[in-house]
Amino acid sequence: MTDDTLATGRDGAVTNWAGNITFSARELHRPASPSALRALVAGSRQVRVLGSGHSFNRIADVDGDGADTALLSLSALDPSIDVDTAARTVRVSGGVRYAELARHVASFGLALPNMASLPHISVAGSVATGTHGSGNGNQSLAEVVRTVELVTAEGETRVLNRGDDGFDGAVVSLGALGVVLALTLDLEPSYTVSQHVFGELPLTELDFEAVAAAAYSVSLFTDWRGPRFNQVWLKQRGDAPVDFPWAAPVQEPRHPVPGMPAVNCTQQLGVPGPWHERLPHFRPEFTPSSGAELQSEYLLPREHAVAALRALAAIGDEVAPVLQVCETRTVAADTQWLSPAHGRDTVAFHFTWVPDAAAVLPVIALVEERLAQFGPRPHWGKVFAADPAELGARYPHAAAFASLAERLDPRGKFRNAFVRSFVRPLLQ
Ligand SMILES: Cc1cc2nc3c(=O)[nH]c(=O)nc-3n(C[C@H](O)[C@H](O)[C@H](O)COP(=O)(O)OP(=O)(O)OC[C@H]3O[C@@H](n4cnc5c(N)ncnc54)[C@H](O)[C@@H]3O)c2cc1C
Repeated sequence: MTDDTLATGRDGAVTNWAGNITFSARELHRPASPSALRALVAGSRQVRVLGSGHSFNRIADVDGDGADTALLSLSALDPSIDVDTAARTVRVSGGVRYAELARHVASFGLALPNMASLPHISVAGSVATGTHGSGNGNQSLAEVVRTVELVTAEGETRVLNRGDDGFDGAVVSLGALGVVLALTLDLEPSYTVSQHVFGELPLTELDFEAVAAAAYSVSLFTDWRGPRFNQVWLKQRGDAPVDFPWAAPVQEPRHPVPGMPAVNCTQQLGVPGPWHERLPHFRPEFTPSSGAELQSEYLLPREHAVAALRALAAIGDEVAPVLQVCETRTVAADTQWLSPAHGRDTVAFHFTWVPDAAAVLPVIALVEERLAQFGPRPHWGKVFAADPAELGARYPHAAAFASLAERLDPRGKFRNAFVRSFVRPLLQ
């Protein structure tokens, strides 16, 4: 996998993976050594890092294309993945993606507790937005980070370890604290997972708690053309049996997006395999999801799952025409200040939309209006209608994050328009 997609937009412009964002910068800088990186950072007025470009909004962008702004990629730096088997940790450099990390870690008989739906995304970029997988007992991917190594505005190194003052704000950072040169993650012994797909599950009389607890990781997919899930994906760990009396198992592999080939997806039909070849829905060598899409996601307290599903079913006629698929997952509460699952066991409603912003944006606004009563937090890396300035009220430690950003980066070199609009009201 390369990040060539990041630089092959129209007229050589730098675009995100989805192609819905053309970044303001004319050039993507790819420093080839840490010293070149430090010099570039120190000599620029504004700096943002692009990971693998899988976010759907301007979170990674720079403001304008001035000669003193730098949008940079770490893809030309030597990638390093250093496993410490005794400590059960791995130090991974800032540009590495989950696919490479997972393969390497697995070769040492070690594992991550969870993964997102795709392994194509960079580790640093994923944890910066609070990326998550599914499972009542599984926290966001950021929660296993124990050390963050940053290049600061002056081009110096700053290391933050779990337990340090401000550490809980330093992982889900929105890229606003500095360049993440490396992260150290906790690991656990390797394990196997089997993946089982079931068919239609009606919403009527849904025992959400029982369904969400039916496996290590549960994903419920619907097209909202009726009050039901079309597919249920269970990922079960080790030898634990799968008992799912509410729907019938399907007999052939499936893709969650209608019309897409199942070969793009990880092995199903209950065949056990290594954790990293089952936890993501999509195989690293294929296009994940549909490839032509926009995405949104809202995370809210799990206790509201059924009421929120009913609220979404009630607007199915508006949602379905612009939807490819909607996925419901759960995430365990975590401690990261800006994680959308911070402090609350969470249900997450994800929407893969058609790639037509004009048609989709009014529906996103409608979804936000209907979910507002449940205190939703939008995924930082996806499309949402709310003004980032309003989001501080949804995070108890938002002001502490703003102070941390001020402390580590007083001149705001790493803050773009997206981050400033979130942080600025918190500093007043
Ligand atoms: C097909 C698809 C499926 C997805 N599935 C899931 C899912 O299952 N669960 C989920 O939660 N999300 C999912 N997402 C969203 C995705 O995980 C997030 O958008 C994630 O942030 C993407 O990582 P990235 O490396 O592409 O980051 P980018 O989009 O490149 O950047 C994200 C942020 O991280 C910052 N950043 C990146 N690298 C660094 C660095 N080294 N130092 C400092 N800042 C940095 C950027 O500046 C930016 O602010 C999905 C997205 C796609 C396209």
